[in-house]
Amino acid sequence: MAAMQAAPLGDDVYGEDPTVNTLEHKVAALFGMEAALFCPTGTMTNQLAIRVHTQPGEEVICDKLSHIYLYEGGGIALNAFASVRTLDGDLGRLTAKQVEAAINNPEDIHQPLSRLVSLENTVNKGGGSIYDFEEIKRIKAVCTANGLILHLDGARLFNALVETEQSPKDYGQVFDSISICLSKGLGCPVGSLLIGTNELIKRAKRFRKVMGGGWRQAGGLAAAGIYALDHQVDRLKDDHRRAKAIGSLLQNNTKIKSVYPVTTNIVIAELKEGMDSMAFVSQLKERGILAVSFGKQLVRFVTHLDVTDQDVIFLEQQLNF
Ligand SMILES: *Cc1c(COP(=O)(O)O)cnc(C)c1O
Repeated sequence: MAAMQAAPLGDDVYGEDPTVNTLEHKVAALFGMEAALFCPTGTMTNQLAIRVHTQPGEEVICDKLSHIYLYEGGGIALNAFASVRTLDGDLGRLTAKQVEAAINNPEDIHQPLSRLVSLENTVNKGGGSIYDFEEIKRIKAVCTANGLILHLDGARLFNALVETEQSPKDYGQVFDSISICLSKGLGCPVGSLLIGTNELIKRAKRFRKVMGGGWRQAGGLAAAGIYALDHQVDRLKDDHRRAKAIGSLLQNNTKIKSVYPVTTNIVIAELKEGMDSMAFVSQLKERGILAVSFGKQLVRFVTHLDVTDQDVIFLEQQLNF
């Protein structure tokens, strides 16, 4: 809050908000990419990328659990008029083989032209699963060989980064565009950035304006982002430790059938036969625990910077009803 209040402001539609400019330069440099664009949401940064990378009728290849497909209101069709090919990966993660097999023959006029591959890391619906970076590089090689563009929905990329050996620059070298969120584990009120070439960002800025996303004195929000990048990345490991603790609590609970592998800050539990996730979530809510239904028998728990070790103990006490 102090960082937000102290931020110098200007009109970002004219490129004159110094704090927004600082954040955009900081993030572009962090990933070793040319430019970045600060936006209100990750949905907007993903949708801008898809809009800029594709022509109407061209095809986006992604996993069937992807946020861009499941949770962005059909935006691939609505904003970019693009076709989608969903693949059945491992907890939301594709292999290079799967991607290669899904590429349409560009000479066959029956088939949409494959244009863009979009990966998600970590995968929300996969229980926060992390991509193997070697597989990402193999997917990149398939893209390069076939003239496809590679986008990353990195809403939770920092959760993957603190658990693996790669740096943001490694990702910047492989992807044509990256979307990151400041509002998830990093704890900002709002904010996402699209990162890519100068040309990509220039075109994205035009579409952002059309979507009504040209914002004025956004520097207060950008200041929160700068603070988060400087102070809230390393502590994501604490979230992961607590998520693992929650995973074992759930594993040992009589109402739970199984728990997805816990590797980052998301815990997805499958309830036993005959139990309804909506009912379970509202019972939890009555006991002061907020979780979300993630399917008929699936419940998602997420740890973040406002969840403490005490809260994990509280959860353990409340789970026995
Ligand atoms: C949260 C999230 C987004 C962006 O969501 P917004 O609420 O629009 O910021 C994108 N992708 C994934 C995987 C997410 O979890």
